[in-house]
Amino acid sequence: MTKPPMLTAQQALDHLLSHAKTVDESETVTTQAALGRVLAESINSLVDVPPLDNTAMDGYAVRTADTKAPGNMLKVAQRIPAGSIGTNLEPGTAARIFTGAPIPPGADAVVMQEDCTVQENKIDQVQINITPNSGQWIRRKGEDLAAGKTALIAGAYLRPQELGVAASAGLTHLNVKRRIKVAAFFTGDELALPGEPLKPGGIYNSNRDTLLACLKSLGCDATDLGIVPDRLDATRQALRQASKDHDLIITSGGVSVGEEDHIKPAVTAEGRLDLWQIAIKPGKPLAFGAVRKSDESKDGEAWFIGLPGNPVSSFVTFLLFVRPFILKLQGRDAITPQSYAMRADFDWLKADRRNEFLRVKINSQGGLDLFPNQSSGVLTSASWGDGLVDCPPGQAIKAGDLVRYLPFSALLS
Ligand code: AMP
Ligand code: MG
Repeated sequence: MTKPPMLTAQQALDHLLSHAKTVDESETVTTQAALGRVLAESINSLVDVPPLDNTAMDGYAVRTADTKAPGNMLKVAQRIPAGSIGTNLEPGTAARIFTGAPIPPGADAVVMQEDCTVQENKIDQVQINITPNSGQWIRRKGEDLAAGKTALIAGAYLRPQELGVAASAGLTHLNVKRRIKVAAFFTGDELALPGEPLKPGGIYNSNRDTLLACLKSLGCDATDLGIVPDRLDATRQALRQASKDHDLIITSGGVSVGEEDHIKPAVTAEGRLDLWQIAIKPGKPLAFGAVRKSDESKDGEAWFIGLPGNPVSSFVTFLLFVRPFILKLQGRDAITPQSYAMRADFDWLKADRRNEFLRVKINSQGGLDLFPNQSSGVLTSASWGDGLVDCPPGQAIKAGDLVRYLPFSALLS
């Protein structure tokens, strides 16, 4: 048997991304319902934010020409709470003003109330105890968003703060990309569902909960097609069902080339498949291809990505390969996850030929600790950890080295 070619993680990723095409369809949802969605078209602000020059502090609006020396007394000629508009500020006067209220014409600075003195029996007089600079404590009209200018760009991933930006720009609804529809099934005769008795040699299907939750974290519509036995006909049948109404099929297990591994022949029979050996650890085998849509009313294909069965391998390969593929389908503007140069507070001296992704956790000294058991079957390593260290092939790590750290939080959104 010829060995499939060994790809680097980058080659595998480039290959995947070269196939993924952003979906065309979008839908309009309320701004509040758009959390976690991807903006389909850029939006412009309907208004200036803030709408007028206004004060950042409770205090007194003044003319700096009147306050050249500390201790000047000014007549308090007007009172401007937030939501109302003042009148022209005459020379020698000040306006009592409250955070968010517009600066009256003529004023060019705000003095915060802590820098002023008001005698109880003379509340129409204020003593200014400082010499304010022109512009002090004034928030300028449009400094956050200018009317008609871009507020959010197409492809933006909508976090709480983007929803707030859209609302401040005056938008009630947003046009977002439709959700990506993903079907998942899990191969293995040894698998049982939690709640069921385990037969001898059985193991609970943990990939189902991990991978479906990964899909949901990325805003996909996920369909669980359950456990599929290690038989060619059952695998083909599951693929035909999964191809209906889905953009992407993901599976776990059965991607090696053993007698009990049916993914390769099944996908080949129902579509096309490349079986890759990626020079990474965990998660060497990965299958990429497409399954013909058997539903006559629809033509085309559903993409297929087959992940390895070991729980850490399937989780890590999902984060490294399936996530960017899905983000590209979604039309996200940023696909590369945030990574950080961090100090390793551990030794990893047995350099591997493969690119390793180690489960680590940030410690209180700002360094990274390593989970002691890095086996691809030990899922508690990922639960203990808060991210991965990307350890290049053939490279050992010594305590104190700077390493590339990828937080799980950045890989799950
Ligand atoms: P495979 O890739 O099918 O050869 O499976 C590799 C290892 O992962 C075996 O020890 C399987 O029992 C285990 N495994 C496969 N699928 C799952 C799953 N869904 N949940 C937990 N472990 C699994
Ligand atoms: Mg298996």
